[in-house]
Amino acid sequence: MNEECGLFGVYNSDTAARDIYLGLHAQQHRGQEGAGIILSQGRGEHRVHKDLGLVTNVFSEQTLQDLEAPFRKNDRPTFGLGHVRYSTSGHVTAENTQPFVVTHQDRLIALTHNGEITNAGLLKRQLEENGSVFNTTSDSEVILHRVIRADADHPIEKIQQGLSDVRGAYSVLFLFDEGIGGVRDPHGFRPLHVGRRETEAGETYCFASETCGFDILGAEPVAEIEPGEGYFVSEDGVETFRPTEDTVQGMCSFESIYFSRPDSLYRDRSIHKYRVEMGRALWEEHPVEADLVTGVPDSSNSATKGFADASGLPLEITLIRSHYTGRTFIAPYQSLRDLKVKKKFNLVPDTVDGKRVVIVDDSIVRGTTMKNIARMFRRRGAREIHVRIASPPVAHPCYYGIDIPDEDELLINRVPLEEMPEHLGVESVKYLSVDSVREVVGEQNCRACFTGDYPVDIEEDGRDEYRKSRDPTTGSASPNGRSSQSDRQETPDVNV
Ligand code: 5GP
Ligand code: SF4
Ligand code: MG
Repeated sequence: MNEECGLFGVYNSDTAARDIYLGLHAQQHRGQEGAGIILSQGRGEHRVHKDLGLVTNVFSEQTLQDLEAPFRKNDRPTFGLGHVRYSTSGHVTAENTQPFVVTHQDRLIALTHNGEITNAGLLKRQLEENGSVFNTTSDSEVILHRVIRADADHPIEKIQQGLSDVRGAYSVLFLFDEGIGGVRDPHGFRPLHVGRRETEAGETYCFASETCGFDILGAEPVAEIEPGEGYFVSEDGVETFRPTEDTVQGMCSFESIYFSRPDSLYRDRSIHKYRVEMGRALWEEHPVEADLVTGVPDSSNSATKGFADASGLPLEITLIRSHYTGRTFIAPYQSLRDLKVKKKFNLVPDTVDGKRVVIVDDSIVRGTTMKNIARMFRRRGAREIHVRIASPPVAHPCYYGIDIPDEDELLINRVPLEEMPEHLGVESVKYLSVDSVREVVGEQNCRACFTGDYPVDIEEDGRDEYRKSRDPTTGSASPNGRSSQSDRQETPDVNV
């Protein structure tokens, strides 16, 4: 099961449920399908609330009060975890919504996970042979069972043992009776940060996938958890540990290109800055004579600025994006051509007429967005349209937690580069090189969806299972409940 998600954790806060709610709200772009919060003060006592839907739909003032109610006594720190889960479709089930919580031999263990376990099938078979019973179809539950079964007492040892044979992408938050912890896999595919807030009540520690989750609480980012590193916060203070020394700085390049919010930090710089640099590099690689540069809001704003800065061409706002693009239950009819793109974007009158326009977007996946926008520009009388994409062509699936359509649906696998201008109805189409992504984002960061060079092997049958799980002929109830990219395109997401 594919999970591009957002995590949030809090230790020692009298307003823990509200803190987590806000931390999740700031990370809503990482997952719109479901949300959940668990709160505890240890001793096995806990409250959970989770459901399908957006954070604002899942939680109300009442549900937050109900979560907090048992934990008003101040003799012990209150702590908790939260999760937002990706994508939207009918076959997504409430059981798969996190946090996953179990009480085993009087011990409470809960977890939230962002990423995708590449050997989940194998580990699940092993666990089932040893008597584990799975409640969900999510790969994340494998981690939970392994941690429960670990032959150790201390939470840190249980986490280390539990994760020892787990491969792939995992940023995970754990909750034990003792406190909460966060760990990143040895490549650090998905981000995870530690933050802190000082109040009269004392020091609050937070964990978040993205630092924008701290800003909303007035917490300061204090550390980006390193690949292969873990943090545990309890009454003993903050402990760090390293399940493995065999690590690389291998974060997903797509986090920097599209997925993360531009106001979040990666290695002490804003994601915005990386995107600006990619935009600059894009101009340097593929300059063009034109009258103006414009972007596809919001996801290409930063790259467009970089392109405009480097080129000296005027930056124009041409497309206005609706923020309310959820599903409309209305079939397109003849007079409403291009309804899908028009729901999302409208063109400001008199901005492109008779102009030579450079349009910058962060990525092309299926090519639908760009094809429709180009048609819109042309109808409004754009004289030339030059497409510049601030990432290389997406050509391969991702096995580390980003939902990319099947290979044969990706534009680059359907239309050769030379034919792309004609296909999109534009004068030129140029992409940023893989080398530039490497230079801007980081030498060892994952770029497998561009290059096909996968840094972590997929378990033998993993690729087939992966393909099966998203095969449209298997209908909506895919074997592991994975939802498809086409479902996702209709979600009211923040970045698009
Ligand atoms: P396409 O229309 O080519 O299939 O997708 C490219 C557009 O979708 C770009 O504007 C890009 O910002 C956006 N995009 C890229 N990755 C994702 C994703 O994972 N989810 C969604 N909803 N949009 C994406
Ligand atoms: Fe990110 Fe692409 Fe690597 Fe997946 S394959 S982790 S989307 S860079
Ligand atoms: Mg976009």
